[in-house]
Amino acid sequence: MQTLYWFTRDLRLHDNAALLAASRSGTLLCVYVVDPRWFTPFRWSRRPMGEHRWRFLWQSLMALERNLRPLGQRLHIAFGAPEQVIPELAASHGIEQVIRSRQPGTEEADQWASIQAALPDVLCREFETLGLLTEGTLPMALADLPATFSRFRKQVEAAGAQHSDILRIRTLSALPPPPGFARDNRGDCPPIVEPQHATPFTGGESAGLDRLQHFTFGIHGIERYKETRNALDDWDASSKFSPWLANGCVSAREVAETIREYEQVHTRNESTYWLWFELLWRDYFHWYALKHGADLFHRDGPQRQHRPSEFDAERFADWCGGNTVYPLVNAAMNQLRETGYISNRARQLVASCYVNELGLDWRYGAAWFEQQLIDYDVASNYGNWQYLAGVGADPRGLRRFNLDKQAAQYDPDGEYVACWANTAGDA
Ligand SMILES: Cc1cc2nc3c(=O)[nH]c(=O)nc-3n(C[C@H](O)[C@H](O)[C@H](O)COP(=O)(O)OP(=O)(O)OC[C@H]3O[C@@H](n4cnc5c(N)ncnc54)[C@H](O)[C@@H]3O)c2cc1C
Repeated sequence: MQTLYWFTRDLRLHDNAALLAASRSGTLLCVYVVDPRWFTPFRWSRRPMGEHRWRFLWQSLMALERNLRPLGQRLHIAFGAPEQVIPELAASHGIEQVIRSRQPGTEEADQWASIQAALPDVLCREFETLGLLTEGTLPMALADLPATFSRFRKQVEAAGAQHSDILRIRTLSALPPPPGFARDNRGDCPPIVEPQHATPFTGGESAGLDRLQHFTFGIHGIERYKETRNALDDWDASSKFSPWLANGCVSAREVAETIREYEQVHTRNESTYWLWFELLWRDYFHWYALKHGADLFHRDGPQRQHRPSEFDAERFADWCGGNTVYPLVNAAMNQLRETGYISNRARQLVASCYVNELGLDWRYGAAWFEQQLIDYDVASNYGNWQYLAGVGADPRGLRRFNLDKQAAQYDPDGEYVACWANTAGDA
């Protein structure tokens, strides 16, 4: 069988059920498609792929290519629309099968449908590689996914999924040869912009696995994670796994198994449990996005909870540029713009300010995050924004943080604000 493997958010060789299926082919064409629409205005955004995100993704692609080479493979990086590129490559290489990872998001689903329609004689298969669970190991039908995380978690834990169903797949050490080496047009991709602030994040499978080992067996950050995770700006207070998870450089199951190994070798406490708990949040939003489809982007959410909001260009630009009247929010927005990452606490604060104090339509805020975050993940981003805007999976409705109290609690000496105060910019 001649197979085309379309890498998407699964840029790794370990625990990759989709690539494992593709490895049982006669020849294998490994493809990644960089879509020009990522760099042009779309929906509520000036462009979905900002420079930090793009740099991290590109590093991840280069790392994947380095890992594929010893297996006799290479990565064909195409700059074009996937619904054109994939059928063209399939036709020119006599492809009989196309494989990719299953993913949430309406554009992703539409593209897959177009590709299938364009390739009626080609077998198109998707495998689940993005989360901890698969649809088959979910303890409920997708249509019956609970409306809240808490009920989801209880059902998952009651089904014993933490221990029995989550097993990683071995790292691939052999792949079939490519059908030939055609030149790709990766040179047409936008240039990479080096950051003005040095960032500790480097894309790629090895860097991600290194961070996983470092945070667990290295510095034992996992043992006190529950107490430290809410810090505003401390590299080792939380795992920082998210950019690698979002790009699939590290699999969620690999993280879950590492937690389990750590618990067996060292200790099992509330903090080790909490890291699993947070990973499960990620899974919940994954299934939430798959269940609700286009409603993930609906202003009023799946339950059509209307909350008054508007789009005001000036207020929006002030928020993006770190020019509001709230120093803590400005600091976080500056950090986001300068580095492509802010902590979970900072995300909650700036989103709460955006929705409650500035009265803006949450979808534009989510689109700004989409552009800026190196860990952007369609399900986690839009799911969390809906949650905070009171139109998502939160039984308590709108969340409003008292920004003065938060500053006193999380930045009592004003260090964070001072660190990120003087970099206000433009949206
Ligand atoms: C408005 C808003 C937008 C967000 N957008 C994204 C996004 O685009 N991509 C993204 O990965 N996370 C998003 N999050 C969730 C969370 O802020 C980040 O996952 C976390 O800050 C990443 O840092 P960490 O890896 O150190 O997290 P840790 O605290 O170490 O958590 C470990 C892992 O658990 C998962 N996780 C933790 N909290 C959440 C959560 N609330 N929702 C989903 N998964 C979670 C992540 O995969 C994370 O890497 C968003 C949160 C908010 C409030």
